[in-house]
Amino acid sequence: MPAPIDRATIHPAASRWIELWNGKQALGWDHHGTPVFRFRWAPAGLATRRQLRAMRLCPGRQEPYALLVWRNGKRWAWLYRLDLARPSRLPSPAQLNALDKAMKARRTCQLCRTVTDYCIPTTDGRCNNCMTGPVPTLGRTAGTGPRAHPVAVTPVPRRVSGTGRERPELHATPLCELEHHPAIDAPQT
Ligand SMILES: [Zn+2]
Repeated sequence: MPAPIDRATIHPAASRWIELWNGKQALGWDHHGTPVFRFRWAPAGLATRRQLRAMRLCPGRQEPYALLVWRNGKRWAWLYRLDLARPSRLPSPAQLNALDKAMKARRTCQLCRTVTDYCIPTTDGRCNNCMTGPVPTLGRTAGTGPRAHPVAVTPVPRRVSGTGRERPELHATPLCELEHHPAIDAPQT
Protein backbone atom coordinates (compact mmCIF):
# COMPACT_ATOMS: atom_id res chain seq x y z
CA MET A 1 0.00 0.00 0.00
CA PRO A 2 1.42 3.34 -0.92
CA ALA A 3 1.55 6.32 1.32
CA PRO A 4 -1.49 8.51 0.88
CA ILE A 5 -1.02 10.57 -2.20
CA ASP A 6 -0.12 14.07 -1.35
CA ARG A 7 -2.59 16.23 -3.19
CA ALA A 8 0.21 18.48 -4.33
CA THR A 9 1.84 15.63 -6.23
CA ILE A 10 -1.08 15.32 -8.62
CA HIS A 11 -1.56 18.99 -9.15
CA PRO A 12 -1.77 19.47 -12.93
CA ALA A 13 1.11 21.90 -12.83
CA ALA A 14 3.36 19.25 -11.34
CA SER A 15 2.68 16.73 -14.11
CA ARG A 16 5.40 15.71 -16.50
CA TRP A 17 6.02 13.27 -19.31
CA ILE A 18 6.82 9.85 -17.96
CA GLU A 19 8.60 7.25 -20.04
CA LEU A 20 6.63 3.99 -20.09
CA TRP A 21 7.71 0.39 -20.32
CA ASN A 22 6.90 0.34 -24.03
CA GLY A 23 8.94 3.44 -24.77
CA LYS A 24 5.89 5.65 -25.06
CA GLN A 25 5.37 8.75 -23.03
CA ALA A 26 2.40 9.64 -20.87
CA LEU A 27 1.56 12.69 -18.86
CA GLY A 28 1.56 11.87 -15.18
CA TRP A 29 3.29 12.28 -11.87
CA ASP A 30 6.06 10.46 -10.11
CA HIS A 31 5.32 9.14 -6.64
CA HIS A 32 8.47 7.64 -5.13
CA GLY A 33 9.31 6.02 -8.44
CA THR A 34 5.78 4.83 -9.22
CA PRO A 35 4.04 6.56 -12.10
CA VAL A 36 0.76 8.16 -11.09
CA PHE A 37 -1.94 8.91 -13.62
CA ARG A 38 -5.11 10.81 -13.31
CA PHE A 39 -8.35 9.12 -14.26
CA ARG A 40 -8.61 9.97 -17.96
CA TRP A 41 -4.89 10.40 -18.44
CA ALA A 42 -3.85 6.81 -17.93
CA PRO A 43 -2.08 5.44 -21.01
CA ALA A 44 -3.37 2.50 -23.01
CA GLY A 45 -2.03 -0.90 -22.06
CA LEU A 46 -2.68 -0.48 -18.35
CA ALA A 47 -5.73 -1.66 -16.48
CA THR A 48 -6.97 -1.84 -12.92
CA ARG A 49 -7.58 -5.19 -11.28
CA ARG A 50 -11.29 -4.65 -11.76
CA GLN A 51 -10.83 -3.97 -15.45
CA LEU A 52 -8.64 -7.05 -15.80
CA ARG A 53 -11.32 -9.09 -14.08
CA ALA A 54 -13.89 -7.87 -16.58
CA MET A 55 -11.63 -9.24 -19.31
CA ARG A 56 -11.25 -12.52 -17.40
CA LEU A 57 -7.64 -11.67 -16.68
CA CYS A 58 -5.63 -11.33 -13.51
CA PRO A 59 -2.37 -9.51 -12.84
CA GLY A 60 -0.41 -12.76 -12.62
CA ARG A 61 2.95 -12.40 -10.94
CA GLN A 62 3.58 -8.82 -11.97
CA GLU A 63 3.88 -5.99 -9.53
CA PRO A 64 1.54 -3.06 -10.04
CA TYR A 65 3.06 -0.78 -12.61
CA ALA A 66 1.37 2.50 -11.84
CA LEU A 67 -1.19 4.19 -9.72
CA LEU A 68 -4.52 5.50 -10.95
CA VAL A 69 -5.80 8.41 -8.94
CA TRP A 70 -9.12 10.18 -9.09
CA ARG A 71 -11.25 12.48 -7.02
CA ASN A 72 -8.32 14.70 -6.24
CA GLY A 73 -6.25 11.89 -4.81
CA LYS A 74 -8.93 10.64 -2.47
CA ARG A 75 -9.48 7.46 -4.47
CA TRP A 76 -6.81 5.36 -6.10
CA ALA A 77 -6.22 1.95 -7.64
CA TRP A 78 -3.25 -0.03 -8.87
CA LEU A 79 -2.68 -0.23 -12.58
CA TYR A 80 -1.27 -3.39 -14.14
CA ARG A 81 0.30 -4.01 -17.51
CA LEU A 82 -2.08 -5.76 -19.87
CA ASP A 83 0.78 -7.45 -21.74
CA LEU A 84 1.82 -9.25 -18.52
CA ALA A 85 -1.69 -10.17 -17.40
CA ARG A 86 -2.65 -13.82 -17.27
CA PRO A 87 -6.00 -15.42 -17.92
CA SER A 88 -7.78 -15.89 -14.64
CA ARG A 89 -8.50 -19.38 -13.44
CA LEU A 90 -12.16 -20.25 -13.65
CA PRO A 91 -13.44 -21.69 -10.39
CA SER A 92 -14.40 -25.35 -10.46
CA PRO A 93 -17.93 -26.41 -9.52
CA ALA A 94 -16.59 -27.69 -6.21
CA GLN A 95 -15.03 -24.29 -5.49
CA LEU A 96 -18.25 -22.53 -6.38
CA ASN A 97 -20.10 -24.93 -4.12
CA ALA A 98 -17.78 -24.24 -1.23
CA LEU A 99 -18.11 -20.52 -1.81
CA ASP A 100 -21.87 -20.86 -1.86
CA LYS A 101 -21.83 -22.71 1.43
CA ALA A 102 -19.52 -20.18 3.03
CA MET A 103 -21.69 -17.30 1.89
CA LYS A 104 -24.82 -19.01 3.18
CA ALA A 105 -23.14 -19.43 6.56
CA ARG A 106 -22.31 -15.73 6.54
CA ARG A 107 -25.95 -14.91 5.85
CA THR A 108 -27.28 -17.17 8.62
CA CYS A 109 -28.20 -15.55 11.91
CA GLN A 110 -26.40 -17.11 14.88
CA LEU A 111 -29.39 -16.50 17.10
CA CYS A 112 -32.56 -17.31 15.14
CA ARG A 113 -30.93 -19.25 12.27
CA THR A 114 -32.78 -17.22 9.68
CA VAL A 115 -31.01 -17.06 6.34
CA THR A 116 -31.03 -13.42 5.38
CA ASP A 117 -30.35 -11.83 2.03
CA TYR A 118 -27.49 -9.75 3.40
CA CYS A 119 -24.19 -10.56 5.03
CA ILE A 120 -24.33 -10.51 8.80
CA PRO A 121 -21.43 -8.79 10.52
CA THR A 122 -19.10 -11.43 11.90
CA THR A 123 -18.44 -9.34 14.99
CA ASP A 124 -22.02 -9.76 16.14
CA GLY A 125 -23.47 -12.72 14.24
CA ARG A 126 -27.07 -11.65 14.62
CA CYS A 127 -29.51 -10.59 11.92
CA ASN A 128 -31.02 -7.13 11.93
CA ASN A 129 -34.23 -8.41 13.52
CA CYS A 130 -32.37 -10.00 16.42
CA MET A 131 -30.15 -6.98 16.83
CA THR A 132 -32.93 -4.40 16.93
CA GLY A 133 -35.84 -6.49 18.11
CA PRO A 134 -36.44 -7.51 21.70
CA VAL A 135 -35.96 -11.02 23.09
CA PRO A 136 -39.54 -12.29 22.30
CA THR A 137 -38.36 -13.45 18.84
CA LEU A 138 -36.32 -16.08 20.64
CA GLY A 139 -39.18 -16.95 22.94
CA ARG A 140 -41.61 -17.49 20.11
CA THR A 141 -39.33 -19.88 18.25
CA ALA A 142 -38.66 -21.71 21.48
CA GLY A 143 -42.33 -22.12 22.16
CA THR A 144 -43.60 -23.27 18.78
CA GLY A 145 -41.34 -26.25 18.33
CA PRO A 146 -38.12 -27.91 19.29
CA ARG A 147 -35.32 -25.43 19.50
CA ALA A 148 -33.22 -25.94 16.45
CA HIS A 149 -30.16 -24.35 17.95
CA PRO A 150 -29.89 -24.84 21.69
CA VAL A 151 -26.23 -23.94 21.71
CA ALA A 152 -26.44 -21.22 19.10
CA VAL A 153 -26.72 -18.45 21.63
CA THR A 154 -23.19 -17.34 22.21
CA PRO A 155 -22.01 -14.33 24.13
CA VAL A 156 -20.85 -11.48 22.00
CA PRO A 157 -17.10 -11.40 22.40
CA ARG A 158 -16.65 -7.81 21.33
CA ARG A 159 -18.61 -4.85 22.45
CA VAL A 160 -18.89 -1.62 20.54
CA SER A 161 -17.62 0.88 23.00
CA GLY A 162 -18.47 4.49 22.93
CA THR A 163 -21.89 4.18 21.34
CA GLY A 164 -23.55 4.41 24.72
CA ARG A 165 -26.24 2.07 23.44
CA GLU A 166 -26.73 -1.11 25.40
CA ARG A 167 -27.14 -4.23 23.32
CA PRO A 168 -29.94 -6.56 24.35
CA GLU A 169 -28.63 -9.35 26.53
CA LEU A 170 -28.38 -12.66 24.71
CA HIS A 171 -28.74 -14.72 27.85
CA ALA A 172 -32.21 -13.53 28.70
CA THR A 173 -34.54 -16.18 30.08
CA PRO A 174 -36.62 -17.74 27.28
CA LEU A 175 -40.34 -17.06 27.46
CA CYS A 176 -41.21 -20.76 27.66
CA GLU A 177 -39.47 -20.97 31.02
CA LEU A 178 -41.37 -17.95 32.25
CA GLU A 179 -44.71 -19.41 31.15
CA HIS A 180 -44.25 -22.51 33.27
CA HIS A 181 -43.01 -20.69 36.28
CA PRO A 182 -44.92 -22.03 39.33
CA ALA A 183 -45.61 -18.52 40.55
CA ILE A 184 -47.25 -17.61 37.23
CA ASP A 185 -49.00 -20.95 36.65
CA ALA A 186 -50.42 -21.13 40.15
CA PRO A 187 -54.22 -21.02 39.97
CA GLN A 188 -55.74 -17.84 41.26
CA THR A 189 -57.82 -18.31 44.40
ZN1 LIG B 1 -31.75 -13.50 13.94
